Amino acid sequence: MKYKHLFGPILSRRLGLSLGLDLVPYKYCPLNCVYCEVQNTTNLQTTREAFFPVQEILAELDSFLQDRPHLDYITFSGAGEPTLNSSISEIISYIKKHYPEYKLALLTNAVLLNDEEVLAEILPCDVILPSLDAASQEVYEKVNRPQAGLLVSDQIAGLVKLRKRYAGPIWLEVFIVPDITDTPEELKLLRAAIKDIAPDLVQLNSLDRPGAEEWVKAASTQRLKEIKIYMAQELTMPIEIIAKIVAPTEGKAPDEEIVNLISGTLTRRESTAEDLAFMLDIHINEISNILRELNAEGVLLTARKPRGVCYSWKS
Ligand code: SF4
Repeated sequence: MKYKHLFGPILSRRLGLSLGLDLVPYKYCPLNCVYCEVQNTTNLQTTREAFFPVQEILAELDSFLQDRPHLDYITFSGAGEPTLNSSISEIISYIKKHYPEYKLALLTNAVLLNDEEVLAEILPCDVILPSLDAASQEVYEKVNRPQAGLLVSDQIAGLVKLRKRYAGPIWLEVFIVPDITDTPEELKLLRAAIKDIAPDLVQLNSLDRPGAEEWVKAASTQRLKEIKIYMAQELTMPIEIIAKIVAPTEGKAPDEEIVNLISGTLTRRESTAEDLAFMLDIHINEISNILRELNAEGVLLTARKPRGVCYSWKS
């Protein structure tokens, strides 16, 4: 069966062997983050929709899970924001009922968590990985470029509410954009917000491969370490810098074929991640993950063009 909503399993930095489950079309999101690796948001919205017939998604899950493959997580993620899908509750219930042995993870930008209905729907997940990159409205608008009218204070309030209602682990991701989110003023506000949210873990992240905007650069390891030390002065939960996984592992066998397809394509013509996803009929997130690894290995050339970041293979 060819899958439209499932991708991977991929070896995720944070979740181990993770089967991705994408519930929104490319690219619906309430934010348009400058560092987004799946590029600019085309549909900036907070309105929830079904987007696809639920049966279509459940049939893919049944097909993939029928042989009970080993997975560390089934992860709601994708090229947009999973909680925008108004059927997420039904899908969570289905997996919990029919495949109770699998743990569910949710990657979310946390914008909709201040909505009681959304919050109640995601509570059965086994781990929730929300994001918070800024605590001032000014920096939020600069880095996350939200839909007009969205307030970072509401996002923080939603995260505090999540902590109160959700008994499972919350791993908060903080993406560092050098000189913008790591100024002394912003870090102070961010640290105070994280103290209120009280996640179980804070994960500091930075750019791995070209984001939506060219000017976004990666934070150095040294800078990430300094931020970690600063955060730890006031925060009691563990804080980690997310490490890159570059070595292939057992669960990665199918990726080799995909890598060959990608290298074959990029040797002949330069392409965006979206072009590759379309041409090779592979989910954009899977392509994005492989491009990130290949970029770290130094085998790609990148060029920013009007239609996005274009990749070619170094000869
Ligand atoms: S990084 Fe996540 S939240 Fe930000 S624009 Fe991309 S998909 Fe949306």
